[in-house]
Amino acid sequence: MIETYLYESDTRHPATLALVGSGSMTAYDEATGIGLGVQRERADTLHSYAMFDQPLDWFDGIDFNDGPAAARTVAAMFEGWVPELVALVADSDIPPIFRPLYGLPTGHRWEHVPGVTLIGDAAHLAPPDGEGANWALFDAGQLGNAIAQQPKNVDAALRAYEAALFPRNIDTATAAAAYYPNLTCTDPPTAAGQA
Ligand SMILES: Cc1cc2nc3c(=O)[nH]c(=O)nc-3n(C[C@H](O)[C@H](O)[C@H](O)COP(=O)(O)OP(=O)(O)OC[C@H]3O[C@@H](n4cnc5c(N)ncnc54)[C@H](O)[C@@H]3O)c2cc1C
Repeated sequence: MIETYLYESDTRHPATLALVGSGSMTAYDEATGIGLGVQRERADTLHSYAMFDQPLDWFDGIDFNDGPAAARTVAAMFEGWVPELVALVADSDIPPIFRPLYGLPTGHRWEHVPGVTLIGDAAHLAPPDGEGANWALFDAGQLGNAIAQQPKNVDAALRAYEAALFPRNIDTATAAAAYYPNLTCTDPPTAAGQA
């Protein structure tokens, strides 16, 4: 994904705002694997992700150190799309930001470690389908409930939490993968490889 923003779209990009509407919008071309996901945020900010079903090294062809050039290169990939949507990239108020997607394997789980567990992306990193933050909050609530039910045996609470978490993760990872039919997940980068 490549992230861009249009600020104050009500006055500066009204035609684009009218297409996006009052919430979020996705446009996806199955033939090319190219899409645009847009969220309307406060102050009529349009927050966009240009989406490409491509392996990581494909993005090496875009110079993200040169914001205007990157915007032109990415916008050119939307040739033939209506100008109101192309403007989300071409007229971005920020230099386009590369957001590679990573995912843990579906069915990922771990051997229980006494006194320790995981919630959110650490437990079930998946390609974004608009639910990741919700699942992170849900995990936190479930973990809190589990501990509240047996506060004197926290390790049993962690085990109970994990027993419900692992099958739930299969469902959520499957749903996220379905959002990107052509996506091949790459292992997350190691700490040493992170920017
Ligand atoms: C492009 C994109 C779009 C998305 N859109 C949506 C959406 O529309 N709706 C939605 O619900 N979800 C969305 N998500 C997913 C959502 O952002 C995540 O699922 C969510 O943020 C996970 O929350 P978390 O608390 O588990 O992890 P994070 O939000 O990643 O929080 C982990 C925190 O730990 C910190 N940290 C890491 N290592 C250490 C360390 N060693 N010491 C101290 N701190 C550390 C990190 O800096 C970070 O602040 C999107 C994700 C992406 C990539």
